Amino acid sequence: MTTAPAPDAAALPPLPFESPATAEDLAAMREQLGRDMRGVVSIARRCGCGRPAVVRTRPRLEDGTPFPTSLYLTLPWLTLDISRIEATGRMAELTERLGEDAELAAGYARAHERYIARRDEVGRAEEVASVSAGGMPTRVKCLHALAGQALAEGPGVNPVADEILAGIPGVLPELVCRCASAEDEADAAGTEGATA
Ligand SMILES: [Zn+2]
Repeated sequence: MTTAPAPDAAALPPLPFESPATAEDLAAMREQLGRDMRGVVSIARRCGCGRPAVVRTRPRLEDGTPFPTSLYLTLPWLTLDISRIEATGRMAELTERLGEDAELAAGYARAHERYIARRDEVGRAEEVASVSAGGMPTRVKCLHALAGQALAEGPGVNPVADEILAGIPGVLPELVCRCASAEDEADAAGTEGATA
């Protein structure tokens, strides 16, 4: 109901890459997503070219809908790379490892708590107050959501996402822009679609 930040919200260090969302960013995200991004608080991480990579959003949209994924990956080339990793069945493998590796599981559980505490800084939707994102704290269900957190918070916060991002060239430590090549791929896919 309330949108007031939780009292202990100030306990977290600031998001290391956060910057205000400009009108240009909103337009860039519209292009990235093919729709308006709603509930925008700020840009939590940018691509090497400056375009938004992760947007920080309020836990409740303007129309009242709860939106727990408050660090949302918008960058098309990285979204595509992560989708390709998801297609290999990596989530099931990682979920299994959480059951066997106590250290990984503990780090992932901490990432879950951090996700919620970070979101509480910008508001609270009671229906999803204990829900984080991506399957946390015990399952791996969406690598995009986990990557959103890891890119926004920096390394060492989400061990599962850190591992995934480390396997993608040009993501760590900095996001090296591949926006142009993603556009080419999208154009190629569009052309194929049109002639199929
Ligand atoms: Zn870029």
